[in-house]
Amino acid sequence: MKILVCMKQVPDTQKVKMDPVKNTLIRKGVPSITNPFDESGLECALEIRESAGGEISVLSMGIPDSECILRDALSLGADRAFLLTDRAFAGADTLATSYTLSMAIKKIGPFDLLVFGKQAIDGDTGQVGPGVASILEYPVITFVTGVHAIQRDRIVVERMVDSGREIVSSGYPVVLTVVKAKKRLRMPRLTTIIDSFEKRVVRLGADDIEAESARCGLKGSPTRVKKVFSPKKHARVRYIEGNAAEQAKALVGVFRGKGIIP
Ligand SMILES: Cc1cc2nc3c(=O)[nH]c(=O)nc-3n(C[C@H](O)[C@H](O)[C@H](O)COP(=O)(O)OP(=O)(O)OC[C@H]3O[C@@H](n4cnc5c(N)ncnc54)[C@H](O)[C@@H]3O)c2cc1C
Repeated sequence: MKILVCMKQVPDTQKVKMDPVKNTLIRKGVPSITNPFDESGLECALEIRESAGGEISVLSMGIPDSECILRDALSLGADRAFLLTDRAFAGADTLATSYTLSMAIKKIGPFDLLVFGKQAIDGDTGQVGPGVASILEYPVITFVTGVHAIQRDRIVVERMVDSGREIVSSGYPVVLTVVKAKKRLRMPRLTTIIDSFEKRVVRLGADDIEAESARCGLKGSPTRVKKVFSPKKHARVRYIEGNAAEQAKALVGVFRGKGIIP
């Protein structure tokens, strides 16, 4: 089983503040961490390799410093690590990020299983996993909460849906986006830490993955984040009294008053 885990370095949002003048996230001095959903992705991959065997590769697109999250993944037992880093990738929105990751996957693959986090805790769009799947024309299963079975020709997983859970299966290759697992990412063992010293993080630029620079970074991004701000909380609360029918009638009146419903 050839498994790929896409991992993003993100600012520790518990400590992020907004720049009220520039309307951007203040990243300076904020510690960077591995996106927590991607830690669940790596734990999921390690468990699959324990039960079905195989090889785990980890891939990240980011600044040179983000190599540290890949080194952590190697110290936990990942077999190969790739860092997509190039000025041409700067300012990428989710489309450009998905394209660049897809070109790298074509270069370092093929893979049977491609694991993404449900979302990144900074951009929060949840678009990259499905974006890569659509560019590579692979099936995608989102909001995966657990793996039920790994068979020679298919994988059976459980996923979250509005009405609860559902069991889904797919052939290979397939993209999974995983929710945050209850089970935390394991601690690295001394043996895997020592082994990781022999492993290097392979750096890839736009030329290495034969990416069109016009589809990468800011140039390849139809989306511009114009303003990031914390919405002002309005403390106005109104209680609607009466029985259910009276409350419903009053609520319709409020919505009509706000033009929410005709
Ligand atoms: C506050 C903020 C708002 C933004 N809003 C938008 C927006 O509305 N539209 C838009 O197009 N862009 C937006 N961006 C830019 C966006 O963050 C980047 O495009 C980013 O690379 C991917 O989007 P995401 O962070 O939403 O990732 P998500 O789609 O939420 O990430 C899902 C998964 O994809 C994988 N992944 C994501 N990025 C990488 C990476 N660089 N390397 C490896 N794996 C990765 C990880 O497995 C991750 O768990 C925003 C950025 C910020 C900081």
